[in-house]
Amino acid sequence: MNEAPMQTPTSPPVLLEAGAAVGETARQLKRLGLGDHVCLVYERPEEQVVAMVPYVRQGLERGERCVYVVDEHSVDDVAAVLEAHGVEVERERARGALVFLTQREVFLRGGRFEPEAMVDYFRRVEQESLAAGFTGVCATGEMSWALGPEPSRQELIRYESLLNHFLPGSHAMANCQYNRKRFSPEVIHDVLRTHPRVILGDEVHENLFYETPEMLLGQESEAGRVEWMVRQLRRVREAERKLVLLGIRLSEQAVENGRLYEEAREAVRARDEFLSVASHELKTPLTPLRLRLQGLRREVEGSEGEAVPRERVVMVARGAEQQLRKLTALVEALLDVSRLTQGRLALTCEELDLVEVVREVVERFAQQAAKAGSAVEVVAEGRVVGRWDRLRLEQVMTNLLSNALKYGAGKPVHVAVRGEPERAVLVVRDEGIGIEPEHLERIFGKFERAVSGRHYGGLGLGLYITRQIVQALEGTIEVESELGHGSTFRVVLPRRTPSPSGRGLG
Ligand code: ADP
Repeated sequence: MNEAPMQTPTSPPVLLEAGAAVGETARQLKRLGLGDHVCLVYERPEEQVVAMVPYVRQGLERGERCVYVVDEHSVDDVAAVLEAHGVEVERERARGALVFLTQREVFLRGGRFEPEAMVDYFRRVEQESLAAGFTGVCATGEMSWALGPEPSRQELIRYESLLNHFLPGSHAMANCQYNRKRFSPEVIHDVLRTHPRVILGDEVHENLFYETPEMLLGQESEAGRVEWMVRQLRRVREAERKLVLLGIRLSEQAVENGRLYEEAREAVRARDEFLSVASHELKTPLTPLRLRLQGLRREVEGSEGEAVPRERVVMVARGAEQQLRKLTALVEALLDVSRLTQGRLALTCEELDLVEVVREVVERFAQQAAKAGSAVEVVAEGRVVGRWDRLRLEQVMTNLLSNALKYGAGKPVHVAVRGEPERAVLVVRDEGIGIEPEHLERIFGKFERAVSGRHYGGLGLGLYITRQIVQALEGTIEVESELGHGSTFRVVLPRRTPSPSGRGLG
């Protein structure tokens, strides 16, 4: 009875439409596997195509034998639709992987429908398929044959619930195709009670209305039915709960993504700003250097053979050296940052006296301090010995002192070194411009500055490098400051020197 012909390649629009939806259903059908019992309830031919095609295709791909029981359509129609969706029907039939049967050969074999005999038959097909080397049986049947006088509703229910006993744990799965337009609501109602999963449109549904075989066969007690109802209620609630959790997780993810996006934008902004500051900073020492050298060249050219005074040459050379030192320091800082970014801060530690290192750096800064108008006072008693990296400690002190002079507003700078049993404490305090509270943590970040580039030159790297060094030495650095009332930087370094008495040296 081919009253409702399935769409074939001769009706391309519907097929093409179905073609797109096949992909979606295919994804959903991936949830199904051997042991499953599902019904496909459809109203339009396309709905049947989008669910039937991937069902057969996936079975073949998994190495199962696909048994297709035709009734509503002819074998040729079904084969044509499968072929149009990429199934090599002839090849699959030739190797026994795709088998078409009619309802007469299957459901009405003994002349009449017998649920038990049907399930026995299914079991035999399963065994034969396994023996033939298939991984199982993927069966589907067009159930329109059940519209006839046989079977009765009771028999059909009995058959479907026997399948629910047989299929779980077997190497077989079944997909019963019901055309909703042709069956009475009573039968569709039974169908929805007898299949654990239902395909509607391009979706696979966990069936909340599925009843256990015992319930369907009227063998379940009232207490058992109540248990079932409670279980179903819990299932719905659990599904809702999972959805809510998923929603929460998704919104948290969205917030996190937004934050990461902002961070990335901020990093790009900081890098761009840094590039412009860096080029400006690198150019700053070059201008006086060029002017001094140009001046000297002009003097030599205009001297008409007479020697340019020695002091004049020495003065220009000194000035040039000073600018070169600035350039070198800037380049060093940039190199340090790139090393730190790659996590390569190698330390060469030796036993040394922090007081000595501090005094040396202060001495080196004598000229700069005088220029800034700041007196630098060092308070330190005796020696404070530990195992540290000399050059890195010099760098820490250099950065703190040069900042104190730069931002110290020409007021005195106080340096103190103190030895405690296990650690050394270095404090650099100025009485200058100070730092606004909201910038206190930020200034230790890469390229971070709390002053305008117009008033104070700098790359915003000194404190970043300083903190990295201090941390590499397992120490800490903190700042206290009040806007307009100076800043105090406090570095604490573990001595990392084993002493015979168990106490630090000092
Ligand atoms: P730079 O001095 O090159 O800008 P740093 O990393 O050394 O970079 O310092 C970062 C920022 O911290 C400075 O731009 C400045 O705003 C602030 N800062 C550092 N030291 C002091 C200080 N002693 N007094 C006031 N502000 C300071």
